[in-house]
Amino acid sequence: MGYNVAIDGPAGAGKSTIAKLVAKEKGYIYVDTGAMYRGLAIHFLKKGVDPEDKNAVAEACKDAEVTIGYENGVQQIYLNGENVTGMLRTEEVGNMASKTSAIPEVREKLLDLQRSLAEEKDVIMDGRDIGTNILPDADVKIYLTASVETRAKRRYDELKEKGVDCSMEEISKDIRERDERDMTREIAPLRKAEDAVLVDSSDMTIPEVVDEICSHCR
Ligand code: C5P
Repeated sequence: MGYNVAIDGPAGAGKSTIAKLVAKEKGYIYVDTGAMYRGLAIHFLKKGVDPEDKNAVAEACKDAEVTIGYENGVQQIYLNGENVTGMLRTEEVGNMASKTSAIPEVREKLLDLQRSLAEEKDVIMDGRDIGTNILPDADVKIYLTASVETRAKRRYDELKEKGVDCSMEEISKDIRERDERDMTREIAPLRKAEDAVLVDSSDMTIPEVVDEICSHCR
């Protein structure tokens, strides 16, 4: 069994930024489970599947194979053998992932992949249900959050930097909707595990958050 750190929290809380830095500092492998849901979402988009049609989504899962690899230490996602890593981080893919991740067949599809990675390696795994569902016996559990305003501002700055035209209102609305979906779905909803350490990064710098999390890890 590897040494396992679970880091859960809402969209835009900074989980991937922080988890990558903790992984570097501690020598863990960083596993981004959101990217796996996004990989499947690309499959649904390619097939033109309606995310509201649960049966169609479940059916489409049957001919999708999501696997993971590492290139120079950076996680790569393969969809039926094709490297789709560069296509994962668009709003369209994120929205499709958020909607379809509530469907049991979608979660079932990715469960073994996530557990087997944690079994073999020392990992820091980020997602929504890692501490509560995927790795209930993780050595360290972190629930990383920040206010909606902070998360929206971070996302806004990130998009502006990339030259993407966007509005703060739109982004806040999107974050609220995604929180609502992730927290109220029937299967594996986002919530803090009882034994997770709560870290609210609203008024913290990145190094402060990394230090705080590293202080809980071996
Ligand atoms: O974290 P990220 O935004 O990349 O995740 C995309 C979507 O996948 C999220 O909105 C969430 O609904 C879903 N997800 C999930 N469980 C995870 C990771 C992500 O349901 N462990």
